[in-house]
Amino acid sequence: MRNGEISYWWRASGGFPPRRPSLPGPLEADVAIVGGGYTGLWTAYYLAGLRPELKIVVLEAAFAGYGASGRNGGWVTAELPGSRASYARAPGGVAGVRALEAALRETVDEVGRVCAAESIDCDFVKGGRLSVATTPSQLSRMREGLAAIRERGDGNDVYEFLSADELRSRVNVAGALAGLYAPASARVQPAALAAGIAAAAERRGVQIYEATPVSAIDPGVARTKFGDVRARSVLRCTEGYTAALPGLRRALLPMNSHMIVTEPLSPAAWKEIGWDGCETLADEAHAYMYAQRTADGRIALGGRGVPYRYGSAVDHLGETDPSTVAALTAVLRTMFPAAASAEIAHAWCGVLGVPRDWCATVTYQPDSGLGWAGGYTGHGVAAANLAGRTLADLVLGQPSPLTALPWVGHRSRAWEPEPARWAGVHGLYSVYRLADRLESPTDSRSGVRLGEALGRVGDAISGIPH
Ligand SMILES: Cc1cc2nc3c(=O)[nH]c(=O)nc-3n(C[C@H](O)[C@H](O)[C@H](O)COP(=O)(O)OP(=O)(O)OC[C@H]3O[C@@H](n4cnc5c(N)ncnc54)[C@H](O)[C@@H]3O)c2cc1C
Repeated sequence: MRNGEISYWWRASGGFPPRRPSLPGPLEADVAIVGGGYTGLWTAYYLAGLRPELKIVVLEAAFAGYGASGRNGGWVTAELPGSRASYARAPGGVAGVRALEAALRETVDEVGRVCAAESIDCDFVKGGRLSVATTPSQLSRMREGLAAIRERGDGNDVYEFLSADELRSRVNVAGALAGLYAPASARVQPAALAAGIAAAAERRGVQIYEATPVSAIDPGVARTKFGDVRARSVLRCTEGYTAALPGLRRALLPMNSHMIVTEPLSPAAWKEIGWDGCETLADEAHAYMYAQRTADGRIALGGRGVPYRYGSAVDHLGETDPSTVAALTAVLRTMFPAAASAEIAHAWCGVLGVPRDWCATVTYQPDSGLGWAGGYTGHGVAAANLAGRTLADLVLGQPSPLTALPWVGHRSRAWEPEPARWAGVHGLYSVYRLADRLESPTDSRSGVRLGEALGRVGDAISGIPH
């Protein structure tokens, strides 16, 4: 089994892309974007499309797609990155939240549209999203969630309840009791998407400098060891890596997510599992799993594992620990017995950015020219596209329906200092793992009730929206 090497997705892409040059020296630009993940690249792509005359540079510490954008589960999902209640406190109220949800659904199509228009070959399939309940507790959470969805007026076109039989006709998940289907979700090969957006931005005249870490950001300047880049607008698009920048240690918590991918499954295994629609798939556990059927016939599956490293440290090459690989493999084999004999080909991990209130932001300060976007809490693939389009409008000072969305200018309080930060996150995920174990059908009725209560306590303490 390969471990690390950034991710399987780069291997599937035929290896790492040829490196672009580093910043040659001090430079003047109109817009300097720090970070070459989806957020930075989409922002550059749309800005260059709107205003081809602007000089736009992307400064990337490693290479375009090195971060979460080249490592993720490949879910282009319309899920709200954060809690409806928090976003509803913005001036737009509940209507604003509805507008953000609708914009995220449209974003799934926008990503597909650009992939087609720019010939980005990233296995984009809009097969929808499936959430499965594998215990009675998960089922009751799913029903509660569905009742709230219906109460706010969303019908089957947004979320459809599937009985166990209906679910099985799509994907055969062992022991699944029911499913929830959301059509607004697509599957992609994440690294191929990142590489494709980078190339499309370059075709529009954007200059990407790699191996160019930015050491500090101030109004009008991004500082690097190669020299300063002076620009009217400087945009920070560093999501899970933000804590390393001066003054931002407690802004976004770098949450680890870990993935495994199997060898290609046999035709007989796929006949047993189904999954012909390539839906993205998750369960309703507190420490949930997420998965996709890859274009090359594998299952890629992820989850939290070790959730956080002390002091907001981040991995480099994505090597993941054996106990996490074993835990994810056990989830895979329990849910898909037909894949039980498949070898695990590759495991890796990466970091995503989590704000203290779990709500993402797209912010631009016209006076200082500083802007930033991120904190998508694991739902960043579609959200980064919407954030990029929004940042482009904000930088150009052109009000639009996007700049009125409630995450624009959203502020979250800072994370606690260490060791409280480490203890809080590890404590929370221990509670979630215990809650999931107690909710298992083999546990006693009182154990199940305790598990459900622990899960609710965890949500209340963390503020994690469900
Ligand atoms: C394992 C995993 C699975 C995930 N699965 C999903 C999923 O299925 N669906 C979903 O919606 N979301 C998922 N996410 C989250 C999603 O991938 C991210 O939210 C999204 O990719 C963030 O994009 P970004 O451009 O903001 O950040 P990143 O892709 O992390 O890019 C940030 C870039 O900034 C660069 N950088 C950092 N600091 C500096 C600096 N000082 N100077 C210059 N460059 C710098 C980094 O090298 C990096 O390339 C997952 C994340 C992980 C880790």
